Amino acid sequence: MAAFTPSTPMGVRHVPTIEKSHYSGNGAATTSWTKPSTLVTATSTGPMFMNLRNTSPDGRPSRRAFLALSSTAALTALLPHPLSPLSPLAAALAATEAAPFELPPLPYAYEALEPHISAQIMRAHHDGHFAAYVEKLNLALAKLPGAPPRTDGELVKLLATLDTAIGDKAVRTAVRNNGGGYINHKLFFSQMAGKPRALPADTALAQAIARKYGSFDAFQTEFLGKATTLFGSGFTWLVRTGRNDIDIVQTANQDNPVMSGMTPILGCDCWEHAWYYQYGPAKKQYLVAWWKVVDWPVVNDVFTSTATS
Ligand code: MN
Repeated sequence: MAAFTPSTPMGVRHVPTIEKSHYSGNGAATTSWTKPSTLVTATSTGPMFMNLRNTSPDGRPSRRAFLALSSTAALTALLPHPLSPLSPLAAALAATEAAPFELPPLPYAYEALEPHISAQIMRAHHDGHFAAYVEKLNLALAKLPGAPPRTDGELVKLLATLDTAIGDKAVRTAVRNNGGGYINHKLFFSQMAGKPRALPADTALAQAIARKYGSFDAFQTEFLGKATTLFGSGFTWLVRTGRNDIDIVQTANQDNPVMSGMTPILGCDCWEHAWYYQYGPAKKQYLVAWWKVVDWPVVNDVFTSTATS
């Protein structure tokens, strides 16, 4: 599947008319897009974030495809081809951007994951919780004495070195919670799909799982077991721990495995806000439902993109 490479600049900022009209409330793709109001900048995604597809699994155009469809002259003048370097003008604008991180739109409709995850949860989770992490992250980064991270890759590096990189404890905690919240949710929402696909047996991830756990079923049991027993709020992860090794780990709050030297491959949000509206205290039911909407080729793309030589 075509995917952005870690170095591929992409993304649009401050084009709320586009982002808000990506999908209409009834799930139909919006076709009467309006002219973007401001600028296009680079939103560099780290190797773990390749959530944009030409077409979403339920057939609707993704943000990337939508951008390609736009006929607005002002947009096309600024927007680089998805596989081309960022235009000098857009790069210059990006360098002056004050709030570096933005809420990525869902790559599918709110109701796309039903009945497994309800539209009500998706709206609250994406538009409420995820949006709040982004907003608070930008507020926290504005308090850093030096130049703040401006890309996902730079933010991940900061998260991996928080204790030495940020002296002020309050700012460090805010970056930890909200930077983790941004990174974690960006990966989480990108790895689900309305028409999720299985993991082909010939993929690198399937082979790594077979080596480590013996079978995909055994891996599933192990993963859901750890997710079920995670106490309190946090995430359960499939991580890369080395060149060819993987593991399943839990993290508390919005911590990310990079804070422990591991590379996240698949993230499962185990906070109550991810399921309680729909499942009440039946956390295991949510986890089983979530498993059914994981789009495994996307997870494999993350795995292969994080390979080390
Ligand atoms: Mn969440």
